[in-house]
Amino acid sequence: MSEDNNELKLVFEEPKQRKKVPKHLADYSPEERRTLATELGLPAFRANQIANHYFTHFSNDPTTWTDIPVALHDTIREKFLPQLMSLVRSVTCDNGMTRKDLWKLHDGVLVESVLMRYSDRTTVCISSQAGCGMNCPFCATGQAGLTRNLSAGEITEQIVAAARACAEGELPGGPTRLSNIVFMGMGEPLANYTAVIRTLKNVTEPNPEGLGISARSITVSTVGLVNGIEKLTEEGMSVTLAVSLHTPDDELRDSLVPINSRWNVKEVLAAADAYEKRTGRRYSIEYALIRDINDQSWRADLLGRLLKNRNAHVNLIPLNPTPGSKWTASRREDEAEFVRILESYGVPVTVRDTRGREIDGACGQLAAAELSK
Ligand code: SAH
Repeated sequence: MSEDNNELKLVFEEPKQRKKVPKHLADYSPEERRTLATELGLPAFRANQIANHYFTHFSNDPTTWTDIPVALHDTIREKFLPQLMSLVRSVTCDNGMTRKDLWKLHDGVLVESVLMRYSDRTTVCISSQAGCGMNCPFCATGQAGLTRNLSAGEITEQIVAAARACAEGELPGGPTRLSNIVFMGMGEPLANYTAVIRTLKNVTEPNPEGLGISARSITVSTVGLVNGIEKLTEEGMSVTLAVSLHTPDDELRDSLVPINSRWNVKEVLAAADAYEKRTGRRYSIEYALIRDINDQSWRADLLGRLLKNRNAHVNLIPLNPTPGSKWTASRREDEAEFVRILESYGVPVTVRDTRGREIDGACGQLAAAELSK
């Protein structure tokens, strides 16, 4: 394990000289929040009140609260609720049912989140890192490398902002509840493990200590960092695990998902199986269909054989071509054939809808467009 950590550090460690992200309520456990309150000379229950405003009512403005003395507002804002991000712009499509928000963090770094309302649920897709160190050649985020990890506060803020937008009826159809969270925006969540786990706790803890969203409604998507999957298994949280496989063979996966040279297909699936065994949760296999690269029927066949006795579901994603990429989405008939072959093995498969295409919905594209302006 320590050897793995050293190796990962080379890939993931952030530059040392960065401005520190201000500490936020969402960076602390409920216990630490109470300790901090006490250290500030406040009764511990103030921490619970603040958490209640934040997690139950999505409010981060003490001036609107009536249960806390005005004299404490500045301290609370500074120590518990500093502003971590500001909205640069929002773009919408699908008649407003999909909205992508571009956020600027305190050090000028840009990240994105996408809110999607469906008939039966509302999902936010969030970023766990600014940029990404995984370098997958078809992904917009991967192209610029990793800028830095986001803090738990910064990840949680994207979720709370989405919950607030839902509650305030900002999407057509009136007020609703944020029901699902997917870690499929920028970054590799398991490479920012501690902050992601704190965020998962913030989301799943019942009110007032968290948002009270069930772990089953959360999907953590990973390139397949086996040591991270193993740690997540030990947490015993029943979040849905999604593994970005993209091809069943190591030869191609070494180039599509370069970390495959560290943990190959067999090792990644074994870790996902162990996760499934521990949590009882079926996992997802993410597979971006790229024309003439990974969409051949023999690959579907190989994938079917790999998965037929596993408790996994395949999510096919038509490739969303990144600017300047020579790759594009599969032909419709090849996609249909891919689905047919997987189904012939009894493997559950869905083709992901392509919400948000026209607003650069794919991972990292909006931030990349903003940076190139
Ligand atoms: N780092 C994590 C989560 C981020 S991306 C991971 O790799 O799983 C979420 C999903 O979108 C991943 O499956 C990723 O491979 C996929 N993806 C990235 N760029 C894409 C593109 N241009 N078209 C289709 N899917 C893409």
